[in-house]
Amino acid sequence: MRCPCHSGELLLNCCGRYLDSANTVARTFPPTAEALMRSRFSAFALGDAGYLLRTWHSDTRPETLELDPDQKWYLLEILGTERGGPFEREGVVTFRAHYRSAANRKLRDSFTETSSFTKVGSQWLYVQALELQ
Ligand SMILES: [Zn+2]
Repeated sequence: MRCPCHSGELLLNCCGRYLDSANTVARTFPPTAEALMRSRFSAFALGDAGYLLRTWHSDTRPETLELDPDQKWYLLEILGTERGGPFEREGVVTFRAHYRSAANRKLRDSFTETSSFTKVGSQWLYVQALELQ
C-alpha cells in the first residue's frame, strides 16, 4: 500500500513507521515538522485519531477527536516549510489537503493551512493553525 501522504513510498517505509495503527515495538518519531505533518495527514486518511491526539501539543489539544467517516482524505500538497529541521525546535508548514465525500465521490474540496509545530523532547508536535484560507 502506498502512503496516503503521496510521498511515493510504501506506507510501511513512510508514515506507517510513526502511526498508532501500524504499531511497532520500537516506535520512532518523525524527524522533521514536515514529516510530522505528512504523518498526521496519513492519520486523517487512515482514521487514526489516537495518533492525531498524541501528536497534538497539550496546550491546544482537544479532549477528544471524532473523525468524520464521510471525509476521505486523498491528496496532500506541501506548499512550503520554514525551519522544522531535525536540529530545530520550531517549525511552520503550509499545506493543501484535499478530501472527498465517501457517499458522493463527486463532492470534493480542499483547504490550505499554515500550521506551527514545536518539538518537546525528541518529538515534534502540532500546535495550531496560524492561517486558514
Ligand atoms: Zn507518508
